[in-house]
Amino acid sequence: MDIGNTWKDCLDFIEAKVGKAAFDLWFKPVKLLEMKENDAILAVPNRFFREWIEDNYPRLLSDAFEWVMKDNINVHFKIDQEPAPDFAKKEITMQTRKARLAGKGIFLNTRYTFDTFVVGPSNQFAHAAALAVSESLGKTYNPLFIYGDVGLGKTHIITAIGNKVADMLPDASIIYVSSEQFTNEVVSAIRHEKMSDLKEKYRTVDILLLDDVQFIANKTQTQVEFFHTFNALYEKQKQIVISSDRPPKELSDITDRLKSRFTMGLIADIQPPAVELKMAILQKKAEVHKIFLPDDMVYFLATKIRSNIRELEGCLIKLAAHSNLTDRPINISLAKEVLKDIFTDDTKPVNVDNIQKIVCEYFGVKLPDMKSKKRTKEIALPRQVAMYITKKMTELSLGDIGKSFGGKDHATVIYACKQMEAKVENDESFNKTIEYLINKIKP
Ligand code: ADP
Ligand code: MG
Repeated sequence: MDIGNTWKDCLDFIEAKVGKAAFDLWFKPVKLLEMKENDAILAVPNRFFREWIEDNYPRLLSDAFEWVMKDNINVHFKIDQEPAPDFAKKEITMQTRKARLAGKGIFLNTRYTFDTFVVGPSNQFAHAAALAVSESLGKTYNPLFIYGDVGLGKTHIITAIGNKVADMLPDASIIYVSSEQFTNEVVSAIRHEKMSDLKEKYRTVDILLLDDVQFIANKTQTQVEFFHTFNALYEKQKQIVISSDRPPKELSDITDRLKSRFTMGLIADIQPPAVELKMAILQKKAEVHKIFLPDDMVYFLATKIRSNIRELEGCLIKLAAHSNLTDRPINISLAKEVLKDIFTDDTKPVNVDNIQKIVCEYFGVKLPDMKSKKRTKEIALPRQVAMYITKKMTELSLGDIGKSFGGKDHATVIYACKQMEAKVENDESFNKTIEYLINKIKP
């Protein structure tokens, strides 16, 4: 087997899943060192990378290997560099905490605590609600429903509840589960006729943390099972905490009876952070990771990085890694060099030509076909995608968009946008495709 090719295929798979920016930041520097039967050893530049990948993409690497090798592969990391002594110490306390929880069968990311969560106007309410819930389980707000865009701290905050409860009530039974994992467990329980085990597991906890509930849309069996789990826990005054990327009423394809359950307690949202909060978070993260970050850099990064907190933290860590490896201080010129793909380049506008080019490349169709009158599926879909993205990303009117696509009328554009909106809503993998394309188009 040629491990160079294997790894190249894995990387292609990963890039398609995470988009170019995250890919360049986190996966490009990773190398495949060795493959031994069902074990793959990967080299990462330093421990930041490993932690980042484990926290943010826990299953991605094994999924990639599974896709390429058609087999289950265990992924191991090897760090290229020795850790600094104080990091090593911190790692140990974190490890013992992890081990203590794991010993009780609780899997929580021990790094996500209230101590490390920085509070500002955009997340204050969610934070206060989470804290209140962790201090009186099942009594104040049940369920607590937290929603907000990707990368704004939902997983962090609901995990913090779990960590706090674990610290305060050592005997409490806590489950953190993503909706995807819950779905997989339901499917597997049905297949192996183990439904009673599943019921026993989920209906006897003191607190259930269900992350990213939007993923149970369209999954009928999972919704039925969750509905009964919810009722069982609720009746016993056991705490339920749910996170979602949108408010309950916008969760289409989730049954009304379940949605109405979600609104029975408290709903709290997390908004994108203002510059001040971004600065405070950067300072906190620099402190946690023992990175020296000058004040002018804090401001520079907070204003330059527009997207979310995950990316903010990712940039900081990437900068620190580069500064470590090349022995250069963290300053604006290093940042411009290392983070050039992330910084928004205002000089390169988003325009319809560029959108069409990228969408055509992605679907493997020719530009003249996209602008033609052909209505075969192979061409109509990319055309609708490009129209939809143009509507989303530019200021062009519907009429002008139609003209750019070989003289279609504005009703055709409206129809395309409606179709695409529905598809994005209902088809998670299509949604990912659109996100990937938008990321590619973004200057
Ligand atoms: P989500 O689940 O909403 O997509 P996460 O909880 O995974 O977002 O957060 C993304 C990253 O940003 C995590 O590393 C998290 O620790 C960090 N983060 C988010 N909000 C805050 C905050 N208020 N203070 C400190 N770190 C934060
Ligand atoms: Mg999350």
